[in-house]
Amino acid sequence: LRRILTDLAIATMQPDGAPYGLLAHGAVGVDDGRIAWVAAADDVPADWRGVETESFGGRLMTPALVDCHTHLVFGGSRAREFEMRLEGATYEEIALAGGGIVSTVAATRALSEDDLVEAALPRLDRLIAEGVATVEIKSGYGLTVADELKMLRAARRLGSLRPVRVMTSYLGAHAVPVEYKGRADAYLDEIVLPALDAAHAEGLADAVDGFCEGIAFSPAQIARVFDRAAALGLPVKLHAEQLSDLGGARLAAFCGALSADHLEYLGSDGVSAMAASGTVAVLLPGAFYFLRETKLPPVVALREARVPIALATDCNPGSSPMTSLLLAMNMGCTLFRLTPEEALAGVTRNAARALGLAGETGTIAPGKRAEFAIWDVGHPAELAYRIGFNPLFRRIVEHE
Ligand SMILES: [Zn+2]
Repeated sequence: LRRILTDLAIATMQPDGAPYGLLAHGAVGVDDGRIAWVAAADDVPADWRGVETESFGGRLMTPALVDCHTHLVFGGSRAREFEMRLEGATYEEIALAGGGIVSTVAATRALSEDDLVEAALPRLDRLIAEGVATVEIKSGYGLTVADELKMLRAARRLGSLRPVRVMTSYLGAHAVPVEYKGRADAYLDEIVLPALDAAHAEGLADAVDGFCEGIAFSPAQIARVFDRAAALGLPVKLHAEQLSDLGGARLAAFCGALSADHLEYLGSDGVSAMAASGTVAVLLPGAFYFLRETKLPPVVALREARVPIALATDCNPGSSPMTSLLLAMNMGCTLFRLTPEEALAGVTRNAARALGLAGETGTIAPGKRAEFAIWDVGHPAELAYRIGFNPLFRRIVEHE
């Protein structure tokens, strides 16, 4: 089935050309759900004459957006904790009141798979309404074998209920649950690794993630999880250098990780290692903002080393209750000093790469899936410039 989309300004986001890979008066030929060609609007291939054509009045087309780091599936809300903190409560008082990640784990365990899906759908719909066609969703609030699998099944279900590609990441090594307090290695042996095997056997994990931090897991512990991922043939990614520099990004890069995420405390050796391995730096300005962090990720060093930079919402109840990828783009520019072009590449080309999908989506190029966002804006910089404004005209997704 062929069709032509025309009268578009097309930000192809192909690198090494005009800014944004921009084609001022362009058209795209779609054949059976894939992009057949991208050309000037008056340069339609001869054998495509007479093919059904839709005109878009000069609007801007970009690749459909990719949110490459979310914790979209969870139970409960942390709004009361947010309120308590602003009323002056200490972390101890909040913990005593059952707050923190412990409360999200308890609420997630208490929900059925159906309930988790129902709770996550409105969040997913907010992302889709902004032109997102690919969403990564992590487990990591179950922390038992059964509850981690339940989260991953809920994430898979979300992908069947909406026209969106869901990529799952198994994040059993997110936090040490209270019942294993002080026994992180036992938690790895008894829960994290067996749940990973089970998730893989059921086809529930597209990648394996971990949280390398003083309050979570050491590099040596993360290496154990990555070894098992390698044995199962699964790609890895890592929450690294968010609150301190433990060398997590270096470990991830040595393991050929798709991405290392957060990276506020990333040092120059980590930058070099990521550049050498082609690991994507996923920056999460929502968490930086919400936690009122002050240590900035080393954007200049990443840029100079040509490490691909992606941006994501990190949607989660504790540190980034955000369901707007457009806002993440704005924050990437205002807080981290990315350019608007880098911000758009960060939610298209580089976000696709962070999920191992560079051959499928993220740029408008022949052979890729027909996944587009069409915007009511005059220039692509407006997507990162405006705050609280959604100019999406239409999302076009032709999945198999
Ligand atoms: Zn995260």
